[in-house]
Amino acid sequence: MKPKTKLQQEVWNIHNKLSKPLEHRPFVISKHDFYYTTHYKNLICLECNHSWKPEVNSKKSVSNVICPSCKRKVKQLTIYNGQFIRILTYSVIQLVDRFQVMRYFSCWKIMHKNKKPVYKFRDLFEEWTEYDKNKSVVIGLNTSWSGDGFSLSDYEVRYNNPKYGPSEYDRFISDLNCPGAEFHPRFKKYGLGVDFHNCDYRLLLSKLERSSQIETLLKAKQKELLFYAVHKDERYYSYWSQIKILLRHKYKIKDAGIWYDYLDLLKYFNKDIRNPKIILPKNLKKAHNEYVVKKQKRIDQQNAEREVKRQENERLRAEAETALRNIKAEVFKNFSLKNDRLIIVPLIDDDDVKEEGRILKHCVHTNNYHKKSGILLMSARIDGSPLETIEISLASYSIIQCRGLDNKPTEYHDQIIDLVRRNMGKLSRLVEKHKDLKEKDSILKNLQHSAA
Ligand SMILES: [Zn+2]
Repeated sequence: MKPKTKLQQEVWNIHNKLSKPLEHRPFVISKHDFYYTTHYKNLICLECNHSWKPEVNSKKSVSNVICPSCKRKVKQLTIYNGQFIRILTYSVIQLVDRFQVMRYFSCWKIMHKNKKPVYKFRDLFEEWTEYDKNKSVVIGLNTSWSGDGFSLSDYEVRYNNPKYGPSEYDRFISDLNCPGAEFHPRFKKYGLGVDFHNCDYRLLLSKLERSSQIETLLKAKQKELLFYAVHKDERYYSYWSQIKILLRHKYKIKDAGIWYDYLDLLKYFNKDIRNPKIILPKNLKKAHNEYVVKKQKRIDQQNAEREVKRQENERLRAEAETALRNIKAEVFKNFSLKNDRLIIVPLIDDDDVKEEGRILKHCVHTNNYHKKSGILLMSARIDGSPLETIEISLASYSIIQCRGLDNKPTEYHDQIIDLVRRNMGKLSRLVEKHKDLKEKDSILKNLQHSAA
């Protein structure tokens, strides 16, 4: 897109006169790792193209290979798109007129089995910020999904609409900063430019302006904690008192992630995380790993205890179900309701319930209604064949449901309901007389609830 506003036009004009920062190229090239690849049983150094047979039965890990010819420490690289390519992106931070300019580039290291590596450079984009007016202009290539993250488009003014949140440009983070970064006077107090850290400057500046804690980490030269706070997660915020203790004791940290995980573990075990002796161990990795093992042990133990409990509950429930069924069979042995045509009988035995469900094609058996506490199942029949299944609540002595073939009512539905209702008194007197039935029923109810 063409520059539209006065500011964009001005930036575009200065940009066109800006020279390429070629002086940084040797530095960026030196930041690339060295590589080798495999060719049948041989290894080939992609730096000097020397080919050699690796030691047989070598116990050395493949990540620790040294080329016998050029003596470089080389890493394994597999082919990508028919070529061996590694890309590094980098930033050059400049002050141009009244603008703070963040320029981003990529350096492609293209390697071959029989040629020395070749380096190609691409200009990606630039962000020009005028702090006095709080305005930024982005110019550069379009973003894309492949390569260094940018397309083959022309360098143009790119519009960032803050309405849609951070753009691909805002989210872009380069692999490294070039030395000699120049900063707007407003950042002077941070003493930036001493290139000891590896944070992306754009992200670092925006966080510095919002957080005094980030400033403290920067000034304390806590490279690891600073990088973690700028690029990874915000645990520095919740563990700020611990960080203050760490700074006071000048504790050296190699892996902030492990330290935060360690603090999480200490909290899990209710340890005193204000005690420097506890939070700043002599060997962090060892202390961390010990707690990981300890936590895993505790989790395994809790799972095992839960499993034992579950099995015990299962056993008690099955026992209670059987006990209740036996009592029901005894209590309702001679209980049935009749009119001219219909007979309604209790449905207690497992096989009878299964048969009822099969004939009437409903879920009475599959959904274990016969094992449910607090109810009585009955079957309304004519000439011995089931018409409808009735579920009666033994708590309220009411009909919960009454269903025929395919869960539909039959022409006898109203008669069935009427007959059950008229005999509810008889049923309740029978049940209330048998205290053991009530008792077993409530035991089962408790067991079923605690399992749910
Ligand atoms: Zn070599």
